Amino acid sequence: MNILNYTDEHQAFRKRLREFISTYVVPQAKHWEKDHFIPRDMWRKMGEEGFLCTNVAREYGGMGGDFIYSSIVCEEMAASMQTGLAPTLHSDVVVPYITEYGSDAQKKKYLPGCVSGEIVTAIAMTEPDAGSDLTSMRTTAVEEDGYVTISGSKTFISSGIHSDLAVVAARNPDIADPYMGMSIYLLEAGTPGFEKGKKLDKMGWNSQDTAELFFNNCRIPIENRLGDKGMGFLMLMGKLQQERLCCAMGAVYGAEMCVNGLMDYCKKTSDASDKPLSKFQAIQFALVEMATEVKIGRTFLDKLIADHMEGLDVKVETSMAKFWTTDMANRVLGKSLEIMGEFGSYEANPLVQGWRDMRVTSIFAGTNEIMKYIVSKLMRL
Ligand SMILES: Cc1cc2nc3c(=O)[nH]c(=O)nc-3n(C[C@H](O)[C@H](O)[C@H](O)COP(=O)(O)OP(=O)(O)OC[C@H]3O[C@@H](n4cnc5c(N)ncnc54)[C@H](O)[C@@H]3O)c2cc1C
Repeated sequence: MNILNYTDEHQAFRKRLREFISTYVVPQAKHWEKDHFIPRDMWRKMGEEGFLCTNVAREYGGMGGDFIYSSIVCEEMAASMQTGLAPTLHSDVVVPYITEYGSDAQKKKYLPGCVSGEIVTAIAMTEPDAGSDLTSMRTTAVEEDGYVTISGSKTFISSGIHSDLAVVAARNPDIADPYMGMSIYLLEAGTPGFEKGKKLDKMGWNSQDTAELFFNNCRIPIENRLGDKGMGFLMLMGKLQQERLCCAMGAVYGAEMCVNGLMDYCKKTSDASDKPLSKFQAIQFALVEMATEVKIGRTFLDKLIADHMEGLDVKVETSMAKFWTTDMANRVLGKSLEIMGEFGSYEANPLVQGWRDMRVTSIFAGTNEIMKYIVSKLMRL
């Protein structure tokens, strides 16, 4: 029995998306990896076809879909091995800040563009000296006379270069409490003083741009604050359940694809005596172990997606899932390359890119150590 209930509409959506990916994404993905960039137009194409922000309500141009649509987009993108577009980051991590905390005016102004792909979003929390501990952030937001002046910088911001709208966390210096003195602002590209720094040269996610952002006394109207002043930290915490779930989705879908690819490889590849690799017991056991881990991951994940869709508080479980599934995916990809022998070090082998792309999943969106720290706190250990 399936834990998730896929309707005919979900299946039709998946079929359309798969066709879209095989037509527009797969043939180009290798070039994007080499260029370390994807054309901006791809976002608009995704939007035109209704593959962005599937949860956004119809009144703002979305399809008002449930979270299964989000999981389908993540799964199909993982299957294509394309990390540059990162629709999940835009649709299911950043834009939900606007759908949940935005005013009517903010929703009307930004959501239609987020759905159509005219607006690409980024979330800017991390700073050179504030990663895991967000309360040590130095970027300030001074609110005065109906305006906010933002000063400081952020680093490692995904889609930082492409982004038209950054959701920026900053400290309000007039509030001493680090937890209650942080607010979130919507900062448009082109605002005087808002500069995009260099694209960071990182390992993996080659076509995904990751950048520094600089704010030199950026003056924006107070209406660009999301929610109430000082509620930023709580708002960030409130959105982490879905962010961690998204990380777990990427990890499980990536690991599944890897194991399927590896099984296929082991059946088709023989040793010198013409015996397929899949007939060696050591390899069989390794494949069985990996397939079991992936199944455990999928079952846990689907249950969490179902719970999340019901609105349950599964912060503990999604934090567990984030660290366990990303560690598991890294284990599976590492072992797969080992089993493939020299082909496991060959650039043309798609699992090599998969291994490189998976590496960072234990670091971003809160490191796996931080996940365990959070779970230990929530368990009152
Ligand atoms: C590819 C990529 C994309 C990213 N995209 C974004 C983005 O879009 N937006 C954004 O805001 N950020 C983004 N980040 C930043 C990411 O969220 C941070 O890298 C992450 O939160 C960790 O922060 P840090 O790198 O400063 O490590 P640090 O916080 O300096 O941690 C260093 C090490 O110490 C450990 N550690 C720290 N504190 C504790 C503790 N209390 N207990 C146990 N161990 C601890 C960590 O687990 C880690 O191993 C991205 C990062 C990468 C690599």
